[in-house]
Amino acid sequence: MPLLLGCIADDFTGATDLANTLTRQGMGTVVLLGVPRDELELPDADAVVVALKSRSIPSREAVRMSLAALAWLERAGARQFYFKYCSTFDSTDAGNIGPVADALLEALREPFAVACPAFPTNKRTVYQGHLFVGDDLLGESGMRDHPITPMTDSSLVRVLQRQTPGRVGLVPYVTVDRGADAIDTAVCALQAQGYRYAIVDALSDEHLFDIGAACAYMKLLTGGSGLALGLPRNFRRAGLLERRVSDGVPRVDGASVVLAGSCSPATLRQVAHARSRWQSFELDPRALAESTDPAAQAAQWAAGRAGGEPILIYSTADPGAVAGIQATLGKVRASDLVERTMAELAKRLVASGVTRMVVAGGETSGAVVSALGIEGLRIGSEIDPGVPWTASLSDAPIALALKSGNFGSDDFFVKAFECLK
Ligand code: ADP
Repeated sequence: MPLLLGCIADDFTGATDLANTLTRQGMGTVVLLGVPRDELELPDADAVVVALKSRSIPSREAVRMSLAALAWLERAGARQFYFKYCSTFDSTDAGNIGPVADALLEALREPFAVACPAFPTNKRTVYQGHLFVGDDLLGESGMRDHPITPMTDSSLVRVLQRQTPGRVGLVPYVTVDRGADAIDTAVCALQAQGYRYAIVDALSDEHLFDIGAACAYMKLLTGGSGLALGLPRNFRRAGLLERRVSDGVPRVDGASVVLAGSCSPATLRQVAHARSRWQSFELDPRALAESTDPAAQAAQWAAGRAGGEPILIYSTADPGAVAGIQATLGKVRASDLVERTMAELAKRLVASGVTRMVVAGGETSGAVVSALGIEGLRIGSEIDPGVPWTASLSDAPIALALKSGNFGSDDFFVKAFECLK
């Protein structure tokens, strides 16, 4: 099977979210973690998503990694490319969405790309170029206070314009709502006027399907996971995609653990729900800071318990508690300590026989899969919108669900393991 779609995602949970969308639409999809090794053999897949941790690093480094991923995907024969970023357009005036998209366009010798982070299922919509999170404009939503990429301007045309020397235009709702031909005409007109990007409005999945159809011929698309909805249909229409459903993932039996390192509101509720059902262990960053082996206590606690009901290990804390911890330890040190502890803990848990793991938090997930030395993930069934079960690409696969902090229903953790029954 030739590789049809080559994707580059700027974080790990975003990568599995995108892969989930493609899988649901019938593309066999594999996520590769980090820039793939030159000699890595292309897995049997219609789409590959290279998962980077490039959202919040210096833009020069993000560009370098993204170009390396693109080069690998080009060598693998991909026909079309996709740059996946967050549905809340997480970025700063320094990047990294603009600089990475500019570099990808230049490398592909392409003059133009669309940009659409809309994900209506998760209540991210774009109207008149303005991004809404639920009922709120982006700049009035919780994203205003994001510690690393605070989003205070809701106009994506303005936000992206500050990140690129290329001109940024808009394909507005009235055009999008008229369907794929109208979108195509508008996009061609913007290109002819010298625009490099078009923010494209989208309020529904139907809009995203139409935008996807209009972009069938484009070499590069940029957006959230929603924009990918229409792409499998394009390949199928062109006679390039035969499979209808994904092949699924191998069944993985064994001990089940949740590692929650996110402090986002959805994860706070999910931890509270799971704590009322399962045995749980709280990681206190202050205590971790005092210890020479921060993972030891939790690993020992888990040793006698893993294997029956799932168990929960969490550092999740409410904003007041996090502020207190950050005031004592410093923000970077606190994060680093928790991430390193989660990573080490994951290694010890897997070594002791844990084979099914839910990880909550984008950075936390990145730290865990890196520590486990996992090179790739095959995508399985969906637990909640944007979060699938995956299985590591290895002879003895581990089942992993990597959950973005704010995704999932309150009973997500319980639901996740019920899906495996
Ligand atoms: P999300 O997807 O919700 O943004 P992440 O895992 O990406 O979650 O980010 C959460 C960050 O908060 C991580 O760097 C994690 O190490 C840190 N963290 C987790 N628990 C605590 C805590 N109790 N105090 C301070 N920082 C914490």
